[in-house]
Amino acid sequence: MRTLALLGATGSIGRQTLDVVRSAPDKFTVAALTARSNADALFDLIREFRPSVAALVEEPAEIPADVRFCEWFFGEDAAVQAVRAAKADDVLSAVVGIAGLPAALAALESSGRLLLANKESLVTGGELVTARAAALNKPVLPVDSEHSAIFQCLQARLGNRVSRLILTASGGPFRRWAKEDIDRATPAQALGHPTWKMGPKITVDCATMMNKGLEVIEAHHLFGMPLERIDVVVHPQSVIHSMVEFGDGAVLAQLGLPDMRVPIAYAMGYPERIPFGGERLDLVKLGQMTFEAPDMARFPCLKMAIEAQKAGGVMPVALNGANETAVAAFLRGVIPFGGIARAVAAVLDGTENNAVTCVGDVYEADRAARRAAQALIDQNKI
Ligand code: NDP
Ligand code: MG
Repeated sequence: MRTLALLGATGSIGRQTLDVVRSAPDKFTVAALTARSNADALFDLIREFRPSVAALVEEPAEIPADVRFCEWFFGEDAAVQAVRAAKADDVLSAVVGIAGLPAALAALESSGRLLLANKESLVTGGELVTARAAALNKPVLPVDSEHSAIFQCLQARLGNRVSRLILTASGGPFRRWAKEDIDRATPAQALGHPTWKMGPKITVDCATMMNKGLEVIEAHHLFGMPLERIDVVVHPQSVIHSMVEFGDGAVLAQLGLPDMRVPIAYAMGYPERIPFGGERLDLVKLGQMTFEAPDMARFPCLKMAIEAQKAGGVMPVALNGANETAVAAFLRGVIPFGGIARAVAAVLDGTENNAVTCVGDVYEADRAARRAAQALIDQNKI
């Protein structure tokens, strides 16, 4: 029986994680559940899973009597406090954005393993998180489907050199759209992802292909792979979740229907696989798999992310902060879809590249990038 602290329990990954718990009640107990503001949904999950610790960023007017048995934390660092209080075997972070970075670092200190869906914590604090994990000898297990696929393929490594990681991308809803049409896409159009059902921020990131750029950075940190040996290939069916190429040219791939419960359950059960009752892949029904090169001209966010990581220092932090601010503005209907890439480009242009020596440097660069992006948005310069 493993104890689990789940951060971002009310979201897309959070709910699918709890689905896996439901399917294997003899293997997992929930020690902590957290969310940002969705108090009623969190209360319902607490009634079902009965964690001893709970947290909300936004404190509700009242905590119902039947969920007061939890030790409660509120405020910006509520998730960090919940992680410390829960002392769980595993922390699964399904928070969205850089808001997940402090909790990821806290999880390494006070729990056994960090199961990471929250890619922004690696994009912004990759060196800090991986160095801390190595120093404390704590595993960071990927939940992101591509990274889980790579991690699964790497089980066959047996000490051999990996020559290349190949990340697959669905291409998003605008894969075949002309640049001018992409620029004018509405939030409803951007939120219609062809193969995965996810939270709004990552869905927009898939539409700009920023998500794949963030994932290249995530793979670089998780697997210690230089950027020039990480490739991206568009594979619209989303059945091959990613691949690893070895020195002899052999390529291993992990396949399956697009169902996030597979990588979630793999991280939770690792090294044991947990059958949770999902639908099985039928290759004959699928018929064919296709592949194409990503188009960096129509999807400049992918290129900007890779370039930002090549530049290093605070640049990936600035990229992420500008992107989080611009995506939120796009979803509020304040800027056009094309404005996301323009905001990120403008903020990167105006960012002086300093080194990151501590987590404070990350938060400072993040705040500066958000301020710069917001100023451009407020002045209608996007
Ligand atoms: P959702 O928006 O669906 O859920 C986010 C969760 O985090 C909610 O529980 C939300 O609480 C909580 N949350 C949001 N902001 C904060 C904050 N500032 N502090 C604390 N908690 C917060 O997101 P997803 O589940 O789609 O994604 C979560 C992470 O997983 C992201 O980093 C994403 O990139 C990654 N990921 C997601 C995939 C997917 O299929 N969805 C696939 C691969 C990676 P509340 O409900 O109260 O707002
Ligand atoms: Mg992914």
